[in-house]
Amino acid sequence: MNTKETISSADSQATAIANGTCGSCTTANPSDAKFCGGCGQTLTEDCAKCGATVFLTQGFCGECGANLADLIAGKRQWYNDLLAEAKVAASEYRYPEARQILNRITALTDYRFQSISAKANRTLNKVIELEGKTLKTVNNACDKAKQASESGKNLEVIEQLKKIPDHLLNEEARQLFRTTLDRQSSKKEIEQELKKEINDKNWEMVGSLVHQLLELEPSHESAKRVAKKVTAKLIESAKQSSEQGRFDRASEKLNSIPDCEQNATTQELLANNAKHQWIANELRIEPYVSKTLAKLSKTLSDAHPQLAVLKEIHQRIEKLNQSKPDASRTNLIPWKGNRNSWMGGTAAPLCFPQSLVCESRAALNSHPGAFNVAIGLALQAVSETRVTEDFLIRKKSLFSSSRKASTAAWGLDIGTSTVKAIRITREDDQLKITDSFFAETKSSSIRSKDPSEERKSLAPLIEKFLKEKNPDELPVWCNINGSKTVNRFIRLPPVKTKEAATLLDKEIESKIPIPLDELVVTKWICNEKRLPTMGRPAMVSTARREIISRRISLLESLGIKVAGLQSDVIALVNFASHEFTDVWPKIESLNDENSDCIQRDLSRAVCLIDAGASTTHLIVVSAESHWSWTIETGGEDTTFQLASTAKVNRQNAEALKRDPSQLPNIWEQYLAVETGLDTLRSRIETMFGDAMKQDNPFDPVSSWCVGGAWQTHQWTRRIMTKKESAT
Ligand SMILES: [Zn+2]
Ligand SMILES: [Zn+2]
Repeated sequence: MNTKETISSADSQATAIANGTCGSCTTANPSDAKFCGGCGQTLTEDCAKCGATVFLTQGFCGECGANLADLIAGKRQWYNDLLAEAKVAASEYRYPEARQILNRITALTDYRFQSISAKANRTLNKVIELEGKTLKTVNNACDKAKQASESGKNLEVIEQLKKIPDHLLNEEARQLFRTTLDRQSSKKEIEQELKKEINDKNWEMVGSLVHQLLELEPSHESAKRVAKKVTAKLIESAKQSSEQGRFDRASEKLNSIPDCEQNATTQELLANNAKHQWIANELRIEPYVSKTLAKLSKTLSDAHPQLAVLKEIHQRIEKLNQSKPDASRTNLIPWKGNRNSWMGGTAAPLCFPQSLVCESRAALNSHPGAFNVAIGLALQAVSETRVTEDFLIRKKSLFSSSRKASTAAWGLDIGTSTVKAIRITREDDQLKITDSFFAETKSSSIRSKDPSEERKSLAPLIEKFLKEKNPDELPVWCNINGSKTVNRFIRLPPVKTKEAATLLDKEIESKIPIPLDELVVTKWICNEKRLPTMGRPAMVSTARREIISRRISLLESLGIKVAGLQSDVIALVNFASHEFTDVWPKIESLNDENSDCIQRDLSRAVCLIDAGASTTHLIVVSAESHWSWTIETGGEDTTFQLASTAKVNRQNAEALKRDPSQLPNIWEQYLAVETGLDTLRSRIETMFGDAMKQDNPFDPVSSWCVGGAWQTHQWTRRIMTKKESAT
């Protein structure tokens, strides 16, 4: 650039021309003209120093003497510097900035800056041309980089994008460049690690590293080769582990196979192994043997004939299944898992009552644990049970006379899907179970809220009972579901019976928000002889009169003459207080001298979990007191869950719940049941925690499941036993 030359020629121009002569077109104008008559150019401006009006062509200010030519030369220099700045910006690819500066110079109309303005214009054209070319190059490189990235060529992406200044990249390309750089550096790290693990023959690590490498760069050729090799190694190694019965290790190995090598064969290996791992876990932690456990162990043993230990386990389970349970209350034979209950004592199903003579264990054994409510109902009919009141609305004439215990009676437990009955007979001062009945509905709409539906599904079962057992000459005691009753447990002060009854009535009046004539109320106060000083536990159980009436008319319409009506919760309380006298302290050992001891002994309790189809009751019974709670969740819920995951109907799901050994993907499909049981358990734990917060807490020494839903595989383990530290 020749700035000096430009300035000097402009200098000479400025000094040579007379006032009024136009500097642009040389027209001579009058000396007072403001604009040129020839070209319209302004002829005057303000002196940059004093503000006086001066001619553009004037050399010095007539007012202040400033060197006007010097001032213009300075301005011209400033524009020249700007031009240089624009060129630098363009050379650094800052095109918009360069254009902006150049546009300022080209916009000058003053003839004294004409040459520099023209120069700026030429430069601007060059810049625009260059900018177009550069943007083409950038777009081209970005496209290439994108394509390279799509085919996993990280190095090419970097090669294409690294030459482009960051500010020329769009957001997408910039992001691509950064992640590619990151990938490339992690790729290098993984490659190094991979080398080390291959040397160490650590195939699981190799598998997972190769997988990562191919995630970063799907076209990584050597990684693909390693993936093939390591898959072969992992399959071989997994087969070895599986042959040794180490299914968990086999699973880990199979899961380390890189995704690109997963196919139908590896999926089948994984599925088989997951199934065997699941079964092996069952065999390790189930607390009791069962037919299901026998079938599962056979599946496992058949799949691995080389493993003598699995065959032994299967044979041991079969043998135990055929052996008779010892003369205890449960029908199950212990297996390896923990049988201790988190509530207290050992957890087991309660199948054979010890407080009654049982002529046929076979009947009770065919539906283990299912008859306990029926037993409790029959017991109240034939003997003096703990709770003596019931919910039956009796005719006025009979109401006043006290009920006389019969010598024989039926307890009829009508559930949502089953009907169970027990006949108890008093003979030679012994209570004997002399007959039983069990029937189950095949209907699938059992949980209908519609009473006519309920009637329809239950009617055939009741008819069968009436026809087979002809109970006409004996009293029949029936049940009402505990979820239809509201129970309150109270501790009254240590006062005499009459006073206690008054206190209880006051409590009922003040605490129950429903008008009493809408309710049927049953009361119980602990016998005073047992507790001289420690207060008296009491219970109030209420149900809406309307519900009771409906229940009675349903039963009567089915042909039953109802002699007594009790909630199944209280029936179980009555049964347990009769059954577990071996747990309660001896009455003669109770005296005032050591009340701490007495209190401790009196709190000794048993826990019952009544697993019904639609409800689950938790009942705690001690020698002097009891407590209960109901959850409106039952076996049906897990049936529905299993029916939906296994895609079978309700009846099949019910069967699969007890024996899931036929489920093809047992480890996946049974998860629905496992989750349902875990949820129920946590709810029971919360309830139980509340029971233990009472002022005279219970000290459970054994825990029992009753009802029918506990026969779901894993029920006893998941609901009742302490969790194994590692599963
Ligand atoms: Zn002019
Ligand atoms: Zn001046």
